[in-house]
Amino acid sequence: MKNKYFKPIDPRKTKPANFKDLELFKNKLIELSKKIHKEKFIKIKNCLVCNSKKLKKIFSSRKFQWMECTKCGHHQKNSMPKYERLLQFYNDETVENYLNEININYRLKTLTIPKYNFIKKFIFKNKKKRWLDLASGLGDMPYLLKKKGWHVISTEIYEPFIKFAKKKLKVNHTNLLLDKYLEYHQKNDLKKFSVVGALGYFDILPNPLKHAKMINKLLEKKGTIAVNIPINDSVSGILTSTFPEDSLRQITPMDFSVFSKKSIFKMLNKSGFKIEGVWYHGLDYYELISKLIQKKEKKTSEKNVQELLVFFNDFQKIIDKNKMSDLLLICATKIKEVRI
Ligand SMILES: [Zn+2]
Repeated sequence: MKNKYFKPIDPRKTKPANFKDLELFKNKLIELSKKIHKEKFIKIKNCLVCNSKKLKKIFSSRKFQWMECTKCGHHQKNSMPKYERLLQFYNDETVENYLNEININYRLKTLTIPKYNFIKKFIFKNKKKRWLDLASGLGDMPYLLKKKGWHVISTEIYEPFIKFAKKKLKVNHTNLLLDKYLEYHQKNDLKKFSVVGALGYFDILPNPLKHAKMINKLLEKKGTIAVNIPINDSVSGILTSTFPEDSLRQITPMDFSVFSKKSIFKMLNKSGFKIEGVWYHGLDYYELISKLIQKKEKKTSEKNVQELLVFFNDFQKIIDKNKMSDLLLICATKIKEVRI
């Protein structure tokens, strides 16, 4: 297995960093939580990854109770509304901030291209260039892939993203959930993919293991799955459990899960994949500063706090080297067929 550590970025360009934006975002999450709590809740009795019943209470955030699986360290809510009911909230402006990112070129340069270059190292050479990008967001990845000569299908259900991708990047997302797409793919006997990208996907699903198995079905033999996923055994994870009401990136109202390193590796193994490479990177130091901002005195100078973020890359590098990053980019190869 090949490991890589650290990815430089300026979070002030990609995330809410000033007092006003952070406050606004926090309030959005509170409002969203209130809306979701009007729905009927269903208890989740087993670990979504290893199926164990041994779940213990860890903390609550915005009235959601979070549990930890004592077997695989997976974090998940103890109850949530039906997924079909939750889908309506995707069309409200919710947990994503990306649309504030006016500078798509900055995003391409610092996020999309480095991720593509990492994934590329693990792609089996003789493959036909077919790539499926799940929950594709703004469409920056399919935009890049097309330029690199890939045949790309991208899925997205959040309407503002679909519009943005079409208008700004000429990317046409398919407005289908993965189970519906798999049905369509099998019915029409379409060719399998050489790569499936799930960059920000599994944490918002009630049945992540089933989706990993569906991805297996869509890949050719030796095909690559690329997963970018938030991690609970990280510096941000510790901050999340210490200040659960102030968490802006992990444990959002829409999330079902926050994976541990053990639970994400386990899920990929169970769905027929062998891990080939892991890139430890993240925004833990930004997370720390965003927590501090939320605890600040009213009169705190904005300028002083902003200066703390200037050192983002220096601090983050140390966290990544210690494998305490809040994000992993994992590349894994399909080594066997699995049953769903
Ligand atoms: Zn478990």
